[in-house]
Amino acid sequence: MSQKIYVDNAASTPIDPHVIKLMVEIMENHHGNPSSIHSHGRKAKSIVEEARKKVAKIINASVGEVFFTSSATEANNTILMRSVKDLGVKTIISSPTEHDCVLRTLERLESEASVEVIFLKVDHQGDIDTAELESLIIEHKINGKVLVSLMHGNNEVGTLLDIEKVAALCQANEVYFHSDMVQTIGKMEIDVQKTKLSFLSGSGHKFHGPKGVGFFYMNAENIIQPLILGGAQERNMRAGTENSVGIAGLAEALQLYANNRAANIAKVTQLRDYFEQQLLKLIPKVKINALGATNRLPHISSVSFDIGEKGDLLIFNLDIHGISASSGSACSSGIEHDSHVLIAIGHPSHRKTVRFSFSHFNTMEEVDQIVEILCKMQ
Ligand code: PLP
Repeated sequence: MSQKIYVDNAASTPIDPHVIKLMVEIMENHHGNPSSIHSHGRKAKSIVEEARKKVAKIINASVGEVFFTSSATEANNTILMRSVKDLGVKTIISSPTEHDCVLRTLERLESEASVEVIFLKVDHQGDIDTAELESLIIEHKINGKVLVSLMHGNNEVGTLLDIEKVAALCQANEVYFHSDMVQTIGKMEIDVQKTKLSFLSGSGHKFHGPKGVGFFYMNAENIIQPLILGGAQERNMRAGTENSVGIAGLAEALQLYANNRAANIAKVTQLRDYFEQQLLKLIPKVKINALGATNRLPHISSVSFDIGEKGDLLIFNLDIHGISASSGSACSSGIEHDSHVLIAIGHPSHRKTVRFSFSHFNTMEEVDQIVEILCKMQ
């Protein structure tokens, strides 16, 4: 095979050509520092503020509720760390299938800030039980403020949270709700006037924008202080000279995705469904993780193979054939084992999971080629 196939879009996406064009134009012509008061600075500032307006409009927030960061990792760290300090959160209810940037922050808070962190159970599909969530909220809100932190779409197996239900539950019980929306922002419509969140986070490189730029929404009713200290950028919420090029790229990419949402989602759903149908038909004992989840992300297919020893070479062999997918393994002390998400959903350790994640830039022909290679590897 001569052509490379990229099916690791949950890790990062190719930048949309329109976004590249815009970013190059800004890099070539508008190098000012947004904090400078001269015309170059004012232009850079207006680029950042236009981007903020675009992002705010897409999620139906007010412009003062959107803050740019260097990544979703930074956004999630800021939200969790500062909620404890500034809002007096005493208990955080989360899940074992969150991204590491949430889990590691929760560990830190538990050990250094004496916060009680409680993990919900997840079933074999990665679904949480909202009845369990409700009873935990009721039990713990007597002890002080509670923050619920649950991702909207799981980046490894694709389980989708019923975010409306969780938001309504949190609102009814007057507890804070943060959602890591990195895998869904742009792809799924979110209106923060209808779905009441305290915080949400997103990352440019997951929706065909640039890397190294993220954002968070903070509801005006639960104001926290900055994590990164220094200048007064981002209305004193995040110090450091704004990445005006990246911020403009993020907003443009989000706008493009939102404008073409229905078509893009129809395309990735079609690719994913066809891929899974073919695998289930052609490969013995193959399983799709979280296939039975209440709802799934349209772009992620987490495939569990029963191929014994050969499993360890799957990603390597796919790579040799020019196919970039992602391993469901983590490596510690030189030993490969299932990731924390696969362990949490009870994935059998003798099987091997590979995550294939699609974008609207993929084609049916590519899917056929991947299936052909996978069939040969069995
Ligand atoms: N949260 C989820 C669900 C993710 O998938 C990722 C990236 O893989 C992150 C957070 C971190 O995002 P960033 O790369 O912007 O730090």
